[in-house]
Amino acid sequence: MTIAVERLDELVTALRTVLRDEQILTSKPDRYNRARVPAPFPVHRWSERLPDLAVLPTSTEEVAGVVRIANDLRVPVVPRDGGTGLTDGAVPLRGGIVVDVKRMNAIKELDLANRTVTVGTGINMLKLNEQLARHGLFYPDDPASYPCSLVGGRIGTSGWSLIGSRYGHTRDLVLSFDHVLPTGEVMHVGDGVGHKVSKSSSGYQLKHLFMGHQGTLGIATAATLKLFPKPEAELSPFWAFDNYDDAYACVGALARAGAATFAGAVLFDEWKVAYLRRDDEAYIPQPGDVRALVCAVMYGYEDEVRPAGKRLFRIAKEHGARYLGDEISQGDWAARHDRYATPLHGRTKAGQVVPMSWHCEDAAINYTDLPSVTKSWHEIVADLRRRTDVFDDWGMFAYTSGSTGVDYLTEIDVGIWEQQLDDRAWEMWVKAKRDLAAVALAHHGSISACHGSCREGEVDLVPDELGRGFDVMLDIKRALDPNNIMNPGKYLLDRAYEAGTRS
Ligand SMILES: Cc1cc2nc3c(=O)[nH]c(=O)nc-3n(C[C@H](O)[C@H](O)[C@H](O)COP(=O)(O)OP(=O)(O)OC[C@H]3O[C@@H](n4cnc5c(N)ncnc54)[C@H](O)[C@@H]3O)c2cc1C
Repeated sequence: MTIAVERLDELVTALRTVLRDEQILTSKPDRYNRARVPAPFPVHRWSERLPDLAVLPTSTEEVAGVVRIANDLRVPVVPRDGGTGLTDGAVPLRGGIVVDVKRMNAIKELDLANRTVTVGTGINMLKLNEQLARHGLFYPDDPASYPCSLVGGRIGTSGWSLIGSRYGHTRDLVLSFDHVLPTGEVMHVGDGVGHKVSKSSSGYQLKHLFMGHQGTLGIATAATLKLFPKPEAELSPFWAFDNYDDAYACVGALARAGAATFAGAVLFDEWKVAYLRRDDEAYIPQPGDVRALVCAVMYGYEDEVRPAGKRLFRIAKEHGARYLGDEISQGDWAARHDRYATPLHGRTKAGQVVPMSWHCEDAAINYTDLPSVTKSWHEIVADLRRRTDVFDDWGMFAYTSGSTGVDYLTEIDVGIWEQQLDDRAWEMWVKAKRDLAAVALAHHGSISACHGSCREGEVDLVPDELGRGFDVMLDIKRALDPNNIMNPGKYLLDRAYEAGTRS
């Protein structure tokens, strides 16, 4: 998969016409570091997924120059921001060049009157919000990976925000961006001829096409983002329940209440509570009769959050909720960005503690289908556990995706004993992922609300989810990337170049 030495020399020589030497990285650590992602993969197969080199451009022009050279020489290009994606989007499957945009992390323009900011796509939300706070503003894209994922990766995945019920998700918050096409041409994606219009009806709506493509249609280099007043008040009550059914009914009622300050609600199922109690030392112990938890979050001015909070407390009480108190509630919500990082261990069937890495599968599911999907997903992981000790069930979350409560990001967390992940266990895991995705489709959901679906297993079902739309994807890919240089091997898009597909 790697490029032959002579061709590599030719590539480096060409890259030196657009980049300085120190922007071209060829050492082993530089390449290995840019192949890593958090989602477990069989360790003995890491070397199959290495880039030939990485580059560190500092401008749109440099990115365009790199892509033009790659297109001329037919070399794969993989865009990489934080490298926190969970479906291997930023992992090179065919070698080539990793374009690491982390040096493109400046704030280019802050427009206080129109409430927008224009940034290099290598900036992350935490760093951006530190600057915006001085002006009483914030950018509310809030994934659990908030401190470590970057704006370009959010565009590449069309990510999901924990407070999206109030502010929208990445696709709503990014107004426009500069984008390098697979041929090296530069285009501006967004509404209107300026950069800051939020709605137009001229022509096709291309913004969504160039978001969530996992780097298969080019590289976003600078983005203009919507800003909001930094909230004066945050209310994040956690409520305990002695059974899942009441908690499920409660979360739906909270989301449907229509409170304008409502930013999200989360349901922790009984498996999740059991896992936290068992293996997360950071978790504040709950009485044994607690079987499910619900968290709601409100943001806004003090004088709107307080009365809305009273209404939500009333609804929770009607559903049998027990309030866990201010200290626990605030602490648990504050832990939302590191909840996944803490345990890093799970249990064998005999109860022995072993090192484990975290993997999650997500889907977008209608509220009415949550109990059935929850049951089926746990059965799939239970079946894996019956056959091997490599996997542990870490329980499920369901997060509201919108303010009306129509659908939920549904996530099952699985502990994986990575050192034991040999080819046999990997095959079992890929099959389980396919089964999990099939359950989402059978319930008329989407196989990913959040991370995309590039990995073995889930990616197999993308044509099933999109139907005729998948053929349109192939047509678009072939038209925009005639030489298949942008992130080849992802999303089954190699099919666009197979004999027999339309030209
Ligand atoms: C602990 C943890 C919690 C997480 N929680 C959430 C969550 O709540 N919500 C959520 O949505 N996701 C979550 N994720 C997944 C991940 O953080 C997101 O998918 C994020 O959007 C990826 O950003 P990144 O900068 O790390 O991108 P990367 O991983 O570097 O890239 C992701 C994809 O986008 C492409 N890409 C990267 N840069 C560009 C660019 N400039 N232009 C075009 N394409 C590009 C890559 O090729 C790749 O396919 C979580 C991950 C972790 C590890």
